[in-house]
Amino acid sequence: MEYDVVIIGAGLAGMTTGLLLTEKGYRVLILESKPFVGGRTSSWNEDGMQVESGFHRVIGYYKHYPKILKKAGIDLNKIVMWEEVMDFRSPRNGEVTTFGMAPVHGPLKLLHGMFGNTDTISYKDRLSLAPFFINGFKDYVKHPDQLDRISVKEYAQKYKVSNNAYHLVLIPLTAGVFFLPPERFSAYALFGLLAPTLTHFYKMRMGAFLGGMSDLVANPMAEAITSKGGEILTNQKATQLIYEDGAVRGVVTEEREYRATQTVLATEIGAAKKLIAQSSIKHECFKNLLELPAVPAVTIQFELNQPTMPYDRTTFGAGTSLASFTEQSRTTFTHVPGRLSCILAPAQKFIDMNSEDILNIVLEDAKKLGLQLEGHILDYRVVKHPDEFYSLEPGHDWMRPEQDTPIKGFTLAGDYTKTSNFATMESAVESGEIAAKIVDEELTKP
Ligand SMILES: Cc1cc2nc3c(=O)[nH]c(=O)nc-3n(C[C@H](O)[C@H](O)[C@H](O)COP(=O)(O)OP(=O)(O)OC[C@H]3O[C@@H](n4cnc5c(N)ncnc54)[C@H](O)[C@@H]3O)c2cc1C
Repeated sequence: MEYDVVIIGAGLAGMTTGLLLTEKGYRVLILESKPFVGGRTSSWNEDGMQVESGFHRVIGYYKHYPKILKKAGIDLNKIVMWEEVMDFRSPRNGEVTTFGMAPVHGPLKLLHGMFGNTDTISYKDRLSLAPFFINGFKDYVKHPDQLDRISVKEYAQKYKVSNNAYHLVLIPLTAGVFFLPPERFSAYALFGLLAPTLTHFYKMRMGAFLGGMSDLVANPMAEAITSKGGEILTNQKATQLIYEDGAVRGVVTEEREYRATQTVLATEIGAAKKLIAQSSIKHECFKNLLELPAVPAVTIQFELNQPTMPYDRTTFGAGTSLASFTEQSRTTFTHVPGRLSCILAPAQKFIDMNSEDILNIVLEDAKKLGLQLEGHILDYRVVKHPDEFYSLEPGHDWMRPEQDTPIKGFTLAGDYTKTSNFATMESAVESGEIAAKIVDEELTKP
């Protein structure tokens, strides 16, 4: 059977594209290499322990993500617990500084964060951040290209951010949000990530999932697609694009070939680069994508015999390998007495390290942050993502490819493709919406 559309990859981008196109009545097939759908937003049982790709937060200003969930019959407010504050823990005796982030949903907590915590971060340190942020937001709008050529560290030096503010706020922020230190983090990407918090300040807060992401989102999305007539096949790794007479006409997997009028490549960046590089399409439009570096992410997840923190709350571990972490035993994984999920930085340091060595480093750093893990660990897993993020280092954002390609029958989707967002669930969904629109236009052309 020939399909209207074959989509490679059942992550958020691929499933968004698939859902929107099945709704339009097209014959859609999604091929996924793993045994389950969801990609980087999935959860699974790994040798007896429930794990996830890494802990995720929905940001209150997201609009594409809630919209696609609604289409799949999922009410975002019912699957997340909203947080109005976040903590920064310092390796100096595990001091905790709490910052409010929700002017409308938690105004008192915001004011307390702004005017309290003076022992850890003085007013002078806070004031030193003002020119950095004010000019950063201005440059983000007026000089995006220039801003993308400079790192957060260089920008902080330019605006004389104090040493304390740099270590307590900027290092945890860049490492915690995208696993990169300030010297490797594009100032454009940082202000781009933060800009919607200004324009949509009234929506600001963060949502922690109330269960595994596969149960809450990925599987219900897949069911919505199949209930509308779409097909999803797991354990189907695409190995080749079928490229004939200047057009992509489907996909070859390890088992067989699937022909379609339109093909959407919706894998993560590493796999997309591999598939394009080994295909016979040789077109200069892919030059930037092939040169856009992919970077890893590494997480460690613990089951514990008691909670490590009094709240399930997003926390940044200033200057340690625990870039960001959260207790999850009251939200995402309630079946165990204690559950801690940590995102590690720099990811490059950990990607080839064995789990035991990673554990030892994390235990040392956890101690510095005042987290009592030793003697309480029931089980732990390290989850690695080798080449799944495009690099947010300076000078790379312009290399993100558009979803539309000049190759007939061939569209891209994925969080690395050009959207108004940066490597998040929101950008994955936005890319899927754009891809679906392109494919629909192609299929309805006379
Ligand atoms: C640790 C971690 C923490 C994160 N935290 C947040 C957060 O707090 N908030 C946020 O918004 N985002 C967060 N993200 C980012 C978010 O998960 C991703 O941006 C988003 O899920 C990407 O979706 P995608 O569909 O573009 O890619 P993916 O989810 O990677 O989907 C690609 C799919 O393609 C499949 N595939 C690959 N190769 C093939 C092949 N050859 N054939 C068939 N299938 C193939 C893969 O198995 C995968 O299922 C986080 C990610 C990680 C890893």
